[in-house]
Amino acid sequence: MDFDLPEEMTALREMARKFAAEEIGPHAREWDRTGEIPMDAIKKMGELGFMGTLAPTDLDGAELGYLGNAIVIEEVARQCGGTALMLAAHNGLCQGHMLVAANDEQRKKFIPPLARGEMLGSWCLTEPSSGSDAAALQTRAELKGDEWIINGSKMFITNGDRAGVFIVMARTSDESKTKGISAFIVERDRAGLSIGPKEDKMGMRASDTVPVTLEDVKVPKENLCGELNMGFIDTLKVLERGRIAIGALSTGLGRGAMEEAVSYAKDREQFGKPIIQHQMLQFMLADMAMEIDAARLLVRKAALLQDSGNPSEVESAMCKLFASEMATKACLNAIQICGGYGYTKDMPMERLMRDAKLCEIGEGSSQVQRIVIARKLLDLRKGA
Ligand SMILES: Cc1cc2nc3c(=O)[nH]c(=O)nc-3n(C[C@H](O)[C@H](O)[C@H](O)COP(=O)(O)OP(=O)(O)OC[C@H]3O[C@@H](n4cnc5c(N)ncnc54)[C@H](O)[C@@H]3O)c2cc1C
Repeated sequence: MDFDLPEEMTALREMARKFAAEEIGPHAREWDRTGEIPMDAIKKMGELGFMGTLAPTDLDGAELGYLGNAIVIEEVARQCGGTALMLAAHNGLCQGHMLVAANDEQRKKFIPPLARGEMLGSWCLTEPSSGSDAAALQTRAELKGDEWIINGSKMFITNGDRAGVFIVMARTSDESKTKGISAFIVERDRAGLSIGPKEDKMGMRASDTVPVTLEDVKVPKENLCGELNMGFIDTLKVLERGRIAIGALSTGLGRGAMEEAVSYAKDREQFGKPIIQHQMLQFMLADMAMEIDAARLLVRKAALLQDSGNPSEVESAMCKLFASEMATKACLNAIQICGGYGYTKDMPMERLMRDAKLCEIGEGSSQVQRIVIARKLLDLRKGA
């Protein structure tokens, strides 16, 4: 077993680290305040392949695989959680669903502009009354002639404020809860699609989150994405992969908090010496370093399983659960190490902490990840 990254992945990490430190980090506080990532920053990320990390090169993607995607997301999150969340939803959820389920014609039409960063993508599963119990969704699609008519409300949609295309999950049969849902590609300019105001969130503020309403939205028959009534089964595959990115995002946030705390603690003096020389703080940092490394290893295990064509349901749940809870803890301890200064907006820890908390909620809460892991564990025991 080789724990070193392949050469091309090391080069990718160095490139992403440099770009994020120079082009994202200096603006992260401002983007958190304004609630917007400027389009020219998105364009630059498009030029580097960050907007098409998973898409194949023949569709203008960078084809970096799940390991490469995790590396990019960790480096971007190290500087700005909101920018990393924008990337995770755009690549892993919107394009991710197309890569799982779309036909060749749909891929050729929609993926290249997304992968080049000319257009943002959103993925619409959650509704006002269905979150963790996502299959209870109430949005409906009915086939009339050659068109699907979609009606419903979606909630908490990342990138929705500016997205050019939405993947919308809707009920197409009442025969089965999970095998009665289909996915549709809905272009932004379809009549009846309306975007609500941005949520005033605690963290991940650079990334927009909006409600999306569909009132008699008509899309052509060919906009069905994947097999009829199998959209929820595809959704589970998308989430299995997407959770790896949230694990990587959390790892980046935890690392950011630790690096900032180390740098501050070397300079700050109390009781006649730099506070880093107080052993109690060293132990807090040692725990952070160990847990960040453990999180990254779990992320890489799940990513490598996907890259070798294997399922990673439990590994994805484990990496997301461990990394997100680690990140919140690391950020809180980093604030503690920086004392009153860490509690102000002059230092990045409070922003990283607000960003980290989302990772315990989105793409399946910590409770849902524990359900996924326990379910598999119980099945294994039954089989043993
Ligand atoms: C910033 C942000 C961005 C998001 N982006 C997207 C997006 O792009 N697309 C999209 O479709 N959705 C998105 N979401 C929605 C997100 O996936 C949901 O918020 C999440 O799945 C939880 O659903 P909920 O908020 O309805 O909470 P609920 O499901 O109502 O859960 C509330 C609490 O109950 C707990 N709970 C629920 N069921 C159980 C159970 N069986 N056992 C134990 N505890 C349980 C949960 O863990 C949680 O603690 C986003 C959310 C946020 C906040």
